Amino acid sequence: MNDLMVQVDRQIQREGGLGVHFPAEIEARFEHDIHVARSHKLACMGAVAISIYVLFLLNDRRFRPDHMLEAIVIRVGIMTPIALICIYMLKRGVSPVLREMLMTALVCFAMIFTALLVQLSVSPHSFLDLFALGLIVLVGNVLFQLRFWYALCSSAFHFGVMLYLVNAHPAPYESGGFMALMVFLSITLFLIISNLRSEKAERLSYLLLREQLRVEEFTEKHEEFRRLASIDPLTEVYNRRHFDSLVSPLLGKQVDSRLQYGVAMIDVDHFKAYNDHYGHVKGDLCLKRIATAIFESVHPDVDIVARFGGEEFVVLLPSCTPQQALARAEEIIRHVRDLALPHAGSSRHGIVTISIGVSAAGTGQGCSFETILKQADEALYRAKASGRDRCELFAQQDPQALGRAFAG
Ligand code: GH3
Ligand code: MG
Ligand code: MG
Repeated sequence: MNDLMVQVDRQIQREGGLGVHFPAEIEARFEHDIHVARSHKLACMGAVAISIYVLFLLNDRRFRPDHMLEAIVIRVGIMTPIALICIYMLKRGVSPVLREMLMTALVCFAMIFTALLVQLSVSPHSFLDLFALGLIVLVGNVLFQLRFWYALCSSAFHFGVMLYLVNAHPAPYESGGFMALMVFLSITLFLIISNLRSEKAERLSYLLLREQLRVEEFTEKHEEFRRLASIDPLTEVYNRRHFDSLVSPLLGKQVDSRLQYGVAMIDVDHFKAYNDHYGHVKGDLCLKRIATAIFESVHPDVDIVARFGGEEFVVLLPSCTPQQALARAEEIIRHVRDLALPHAGSSRHGIVTISIGVSAAGTGQGCSFETILKQADEALYRAKASGRDRCELFAQQDPQALGRAFAG
């Protein structure tokens, strides 16, 4: 595990602390990954916020009709252009710090100008607006989800403005100012806590997502390594090691006599002569063509083809009776013959051929895989001895061979 991963794990497991800042390297990646989406989201939320801010002209008309013109100037003539400039800059692209500063400035300007409106008005109802100022904190801390420290600073600033307003704008009711202040303070605290929690959740989900992607990447690589480790690089069929691992449950035991499968041992005929005549490179190419032909002759979903070693291959044929296995072997032989690869040193029509020995389990006697393999090998020996380019079934499973032996 590299250093960065260790740091990520530490951050995920971290308990206590504010958890609103990663170590520098992770923070840089985090900002890099979320910056564009966050800028876009802030621009959209900025548009929503300024629309609502302008909509509050309806409120101004009812509560302070005496200063309607000032309200229009502030909401439409000043705050809207400021918001549009912020949105434009976010869309054009700014640094993460400037991004947060712009949005913090936007809510602070909203607070200042709204306070100014409250100040200007002589309407007795204007005081009620102090209870609505919490909405500006809500926009900064929840709608914009300003980064925690920006949220905290802007909230402190808002509270300062609120303190000033309560003092400068005597409440029409006794203790009204105190109540407005308490409500504002409570709302601000709740919204700071909510802001802190949502930033922590955002950062944690980022880390977990990275972790998940890392696990997926690791699993993919692991699968690829496993695949490469199980394939013979020349012929691209399974290698001997993988074949052994696949048949390992059948090794060394008397397997249930009802378990039916066939084994075909394949050997290229006169391959030494082929190498001697055409050279090893052509020999390799020939082995590759033969492996492909074998693979194309079997049922790839169920049958298992592996290079057993040198110029020998083995095919495991699940759920096959001896006769079915023999038929499959004949099909393989035909396929290789059809390749018509020239072989000057071959006694079989001048082309490359193969011989196959077949044996099958599940014929009544429960025996181990090694026994079946040995029987297939014996059958292969008979195929070679009887002229090559043919397949033979292990004698005790072949009624014809038994008949011949009996007659002989
Ligand atoms: P038979 O018909 O009795 O099987 O005769 P043969 O010549 O095929 O048998 P033998 O065992 O004498 O020779 C096998 C040859 O296969 C010898 C070896 O050079 C060749 N061989 C084994 N592995 C490879 C390989 O990966 N590439 C090449 N080009 N040749 C190989
Ligand atoms: Mg051989
Ligand atoms: Mg051979």
